[in-house]
Amino acid sequence: MRRIYFDYNATAPLRPVARDAVIRALDAGNPSSVHSEGRAARALVENARVAIARALGTPADRVVFVSGATEAAATALRPRAGERLLIGAGEHACVQAGHSFSAGDVATVGLDPQGRLDLGDLRARLAEAPDRRPILALQAANNETGAVQPVAEAAEIVHAAGGIVVCDAVQAFSRIPCSFAATGADVLFLSSHKLGGPKGTGALAYLRRDLMPEKALIRGGGQERSFRGGTENVAANAGFAAALTEAEARREAESARLGQLRDYLQAGLLEIAPETAIFADEAARTANTLAFAVPGLAAETLVAAFDVEGVALSSGSACSSGKVSPSHVLAAMGVAPDVAGSALRVSLGWGSTQEEGMRFLEIFAKVHERMRRRLRT
Ligand code: PLP
Repeated sequence: MRRIYFDYNATAPLRPVARDAVIRALDAGNPSSVHSEGRAARALVENARVAIARALGTPADRVVFVSGATEAAATALRPRAGERLLIGAGEHACVQAGHSFSAGDVATVGLDPQGRLDLGDLRARLAEAPDRRPILALQAANNETGAVQPVAEAAEIVHAAGGIVVCDAVQAFSRIPCSFAATGADVLFLSSHKLGGPKGTGALAYLRRDLMPEKALIRGGGQERSFRGGTENVAANAGFAAALTEAEARREAESARLGQLRDYLQAGLLEIAPETAIFADEAARTANTLAFAVPGLAAETLVAAFDVEGVALSSGSACSSGKVSPSHVLAAMGVAPDVAGSALRVSLGWGSTQEEGMRFLEIFAKVHERMRRRLRT
């Protein structure tokens, strides 16, 4: 029986268009070389950059290729004089641990019980230091719950306070509109592998030139117009752009299709196990994400049980699974630690089907019954 891959928020399987683009570009030359081979490679990189810039709505020379979202966050979140960093409590570890502000210059902005940034708390944090320039790091959608964040509203508040918004659009791009115009953000970053491109590449994009860093994080041969040293990953960038172009073209249709599948799964879970808690279900969520907990059943045990049955899903965020620590996102939403310890995440994507959804519910019923029986004995 074919395995069911329901862990797109950890990484999406490579889209066939991306695979083709990668393979076609694997033999490319060095984009910095002036000969024909170099120029052909340069064209691949620049065409990819144009595609990404167009999707985000900024000029191509404001898009920098990086190795992924983690490098993007580390690059964008370096302090300049007078700045103070505000971090949404649900941000990914690459933001929470990857910035280089000193501890005294950082404040956390809380979430509401549905996993959305608390705008009242944002105003309170801003009022603490009116003389500092606020930099708000806020994701467009959360990787664990799918909760869509009020980026545009937050940006209005932060802009009025003279600050800027750095937006992690990793989980939102291909699921909701993520351009600069749609989000109101000043800086956006993306990761290729989350939208069906190859791993190891991503984009850091700026709305305005003056926001671009004075110094590269990785210095070297002056590549990326001196914003990021190192020979460009030509094949990965070509694959990234191919995946992004397809994801954006299919965004609305895919979201409608996956939203129906997600709702079908949610209804099925509640029918089989009425005690199931669904997280962020009163918030707008990305259509592909379903975070839930069956109280009393340990998430790590369930993940292993599903794996044996041929289903790949995740407990909390994949980047932190392996460490069995409770999710900081659920904690910030006020979820009790024992419930958070049972949290699972199903995340769907371009290859997910209704037939997989039906099989998943059959497997869930089986695993749930088995676990409950074990608990009773
Ligand atoms: N931001 C979010 C919301 C994520 O979900 C992830 C990966 O899980 C990252 C950032 C890190 O992305 P990358 O693997 O490209 O460094």
